Amino acid sequence: MSRSQPPSGAPGEAAPDPPGESTGATPPTRDPLEETLVASEVIRRGRILEFRVDTVERADGRRVRRDVAGHPGAVAIVALDDAGRVLLVRQWRHPAGRALLEIPAGTLDRDPATGATEDPDAAARRELEEETGCRAGRWERLADFWTAPGFATERMFLYLATELAPAAGDHGPDEDEALELVRLPWREAVAAAERGAIRDAKTLIGILWLARRLAPPAEG
Ligand SMILES: [Mg+2]
Repeated sequence: MSRSQPPSGAPGEAAPDPPGESTGATPPTRDPLEETLVASEVIRRGRILEFRVDTVERADGRRVRRDVAGHPGAVAIVALDDAGRVLLVRQWRHPAGRALLEIPAGTLDRDPATGATEDPDAAARRELEEETGCRAGRWERLADFWTAPGFATERMFLYLATELAPAAGDHGPDEDEALELVRLPWREAVAAAERGAIRDAKTLIGILWLARRLAPPAEG
């Protein structure tokens, strides 16, 4: 049986407005690529992920099935200390079969009673503290993006955190997380990304985004 492919990111595809950020200036027009959900079968609900098979209908009436990993969303933090070092965590990643060097990150908590997901700004503060033991005096949201839109609903919010200071209190990583904290001068982090020593997608985005901030490319 042939399986249809998930839609690829077509060039020029408009990004949906984040909630509350639509200007409302133009009436919404239906994207001819839009697919309508007609059925959803949950195969398994895991601790964080929900595995399901969705049936969607295209504008031409064709129905196709999509394997979907439902995810509550996540945050990732580029934390830069006053000495110009990026805070990274090294941890074993079972699906990758190796230890990876990554920026601090974590999944949005979901309220088991209401199903509501945690505010990303709050989650970013919590994750930075849990994974690095630091708090930040300045926060800026850099970007939000889908990490694997072909099969996962995970949307990730990327932050820049500066004016770092040790956090009071005893907030360690989650029980199932074993982390090594690494502080790398930001230029070394960029070099590590460029030579393939950093291979985690959110970390590549974060480090290269930071590099553009600290050493913007020349105009022209
Ligand atoms: Mg984490």
